[in-house]
Amino acid sequence: MQNSKLQVKNQNLTGLTLIETLRGLKEKIFSEEELNKAYLNKIAKLNPKLNAFLKIEKNSRGIPAAIKDCILTKGIKTTAGSKILSNFVPPYNATVIEKLLEQKVNVIGKTNCDEFTMGSSGENSAYGPTKNPWDLNKVPGGSSSGSAAAVAADLCTFALGTDTGGSIRQPASLCGVVGLRPSYGRVSRYGTIAMASSFDQIGPLTKSVEDAALVLEWISGGDNYDSNCRKEKFTMQPGKLRGGIKGLKVGVPKEFFSQGLEGGVEKIIRDAIKKLEEMGAEIIEVSLPSCEYAMAAYYILVPSEISSNYARYDGIRFGNTRENFGDEVKRRIMLGTFALSTGYYDDYFAKAARVRTLIRQDFQKAFGPSTGSGCDVIVGPVSPTTAWNLGEKVIDPLAMYMADIYTVPGNLAGIPGLSVPCGFSKGLPVGLQILGKQWDEETILQVGYAYEQATSRRKEKPKLSF
Ligand code: GLN
Repeated sequence: MQNSKLQVKNQNLTGLTLIETLRGLKEKIFSEEELNKAYLNKIAKLNPKLNAFLKIEKNSRGIPAAIKDCILTKGIKTTAGSKILSNFVPPYNATVIEKLLEQKVNVIGKTNCDEFTMGSSGENSAYGPTKNPWDLNKVPGGSSSGSAAAVAADLCTFALGTDTGGSIRQPASLCGVVGLRPSYGRVSRYGTIAMASSFDQIGPLTKSVEDAALVLEWISGGDNYDSNCRKEKFTMQPGKLRGGIKGLKVGVPKEFFSQGLEGGVEKIIRDAIKKLEEMGAEIIEVSLPSCEYAMAAYYILVPSEISSNYARYDGIRFGNTRENFGDEVKRRIMLGTFALSTGYYDDYFAKAARVRTLIRQDFQKAFGPSTGSGCDVIVGPVSPTTAWNLGEKVIDPLAMYMADIYTVPGNLAGIPGLSVPCGFSKGLPVGLQILGKQWDEETILQVGYAYEQATSRRKEKPKLSF
């Protein structure tokens, strides 16, 4: 006991995981005040370079968490990275914030994001891009850009992000942190500024897999304000996290190693799969044939939902007028309005909705125990590349969209996905994606935890010598 106390004390407070922080507080090794002070000092020093936070709460008490700025926080300005909400101070908290308050978690700041969460690099924010802590010339990924950068740079104990097409897993991968997108309906969306309501989901970005499991326990569970939200809370069965992966069936879809996958990333992912095999998992090749059409379907369905959701920004309710929308938002409203209009609806929206069903069936087949391959999880890359240069893809929306080619299929199917750091290509982090059956976050966390323990990935941190 004495020894473990000393160990925590000698560590930098901001370097502790959430689980370690809770232990330190419980054992009174440090106080909440010291903890918040340590984080606030670090934020003051690094945020001017990183632009991870849009708003910092100087009076933070409790366990400091960074919250993506599309999640409503009572009395704290919430912009969703948009000029249209530049003066919006929410009169109530999102359900996830209420749930965190019950655990004595506090908002230490609101994090930068692509405008209304539309983007893959953080560069669509109206408040300037976030920089990647591993290299300030690179993007951190998006749209939960500030949340991923804040966790990577140790500016919070954990962060919340949202993932509609990859926005938790992809920035987690590019910044070398853990990111969990829960099953659709696992976490209440009440108080999240919607992009596409049948896809959006809140989830944690953390310093370890165990932390992600705990945060999911905290934020999951029924909510009268969100009828799509499952009543049962997520709980990790005791012993399951540390259960190992012997005998588990790990599917590797051949479509996840397609053209466009960087050689360096592919090698690291293949090595990680080999490692899982060494640890006792059974590796099986699977096929998800309809995933070829995932991007096409996503960019019909999501803009369609956007065009209907965004009618609320009518210049009356939230003050600012529509000329304050950025280019990407306008592009999607126009695309969606077109796809839903009479004469085109059947050709575009209805067809894309059918493709969505086919993709869901592909996954069901891969996971199905009797008719399919019986996989427990499916693994592959999160992102086809590591972090790219700021500005590199800004003028090419299609190239930007392709950054989510391996994350979007999971969103179309509504299944959970985890990004776990698994190596570096030319000095930049790479994430391993672990997808699971609907409602089975437990098994992806179990695999992620086993992998994390078998490697020393989570101990690697950016130098931040600027
Ligand atoms: N990059 C994707 C998009 O722009 C996903 C964004 C997200 O998950 N919020 O739609």
